[in-house]
Amino acid sequence: MNYVNDVKLNHFPQRDEPQSLWSARAVLIAGGAGFLGSWLCHRYIEMGYRVYCLDDLSTGRLSNLGELLRLPQFVFIKHDVVHPISLPGPVSLIYNMACPASPPRYQIDPIHTLRTNVSGALNLLELASLHGARILQASTSEVYGDPAISPQRESYHGNVNTVGPRSCYDEGKRAAETLFHDYHICRGVDVRIARIFNTYGPGMDPLDGRVVSNFIIQALKGAPITIYGDGSQTRSFCYRDDLVEGLMRLMHSDRDLSEPVNIGNPGEFTIAELAQKVLAMTGSTSLLSYHPLPQDDPRQRRPDITSARQELGWEPTVNLDRGLEATIAYFATEIGASGAHGGQRSLRAPAQAV
Ligand code: UDP
Repeated sequence: MNYVNDVKLNHFPQRDEPQSLWSARAVLIAGGAGFLGSWLCHRYIEMGYRVYCLDDLSTGRLSNLGELLRLPQFVFIKHDVVHPISLPGPVSLIYNMACPASPPRYQIDPIHTLRTNVSGALNLLELASLHGARILQASTSEVYGDPAISPQRESYHGNVNTVGPRSCYDEGKRAAETLFHDYHICRGVDVRIARIFNTYGPGMDPLDGRVVSNFIIQALKGAPITIYGDGSQTRSFCYRDDLVEGLMRLMHSDRDLSEPVNIGNPGEFTIAELAQKVLAMTGSTSLLSYHPLPQDDPRQRRPDITSARQELGWEPTVNLDRGLEATIAYFATEIGASGAHGGQRSLRAPAQAV
């Protein structure tokens, strides 16, 4: 399968083409109603694939899928990946995007978050083994924990607390990487592991409590901008479209790429800088309000993307200003449509100001 050709030709199977072509061009996206999963669904439908979108809708939203739900080549399956999975037809590609990803959301039920990561990975790996499908794990920069080196390269083994509020997610994702590795070695499953760094863009859930969504919504509503800690901690923000392009290149590469690959934007910003950018771009007069830094909040995060550049010919193309512009426009519409979102309803409501 050649990714570049797929994109160029935008080939859609015709009725008289053999059924095998359909099956070769079928993809399962677990977590397909989420922020990134739904964008993958859109991309694969555009490319002429049959798409099985599996989601338990705990954090995913059907509104992310829109008109896809009416297409015959798009199949939505409401299912929690902690339970075994069967499909109505064959697939050649599987994405495991299934897990709540924002700290306030994955901390609501930490035991279920860990089960989602471990049992979900096992169930999807079994399915990949059964179908002879290639499978990609949406891993995370969280496997590096609070990193002692910067930028983080894939060979760094991380600094993760096993018994903190973030552990259910961080350790779950680390265990899932191990399962992917072991299914590759022991069962010959064709695996890919993408370590995703902070991603933002249109389609984010206004209520998921992440820094980009919180700041933009607060600025647009004139509410205080909630900075946790002193705002000197850093993150590297990757725009949705760049990120998904990186995932697809990793999935479709013909190279032997079973080892983890960082996918993220190396542009590094402090949280205070992000707040100033959002204020300037929205023209907001919101004040800054400082709150305690959550336990185990990483001090810095920046990907070394040498491997993605060399192996996939990929690097981000959308800088933070341009990405924020599109994201601010998206949230302005979302707020206008519902009138109900805002910092005060954010899931991560800091207990007390400092
Ligand atoms: N953060 C913040 N204000 C908010 C939400 C988050 O200052 O309203 C901080 C948070 O403490 C962290 C960074 O922004 O240092 C990124 O948080 P996010 O939840 O977006 O993702 P994380 O990288 O922590 O998983």
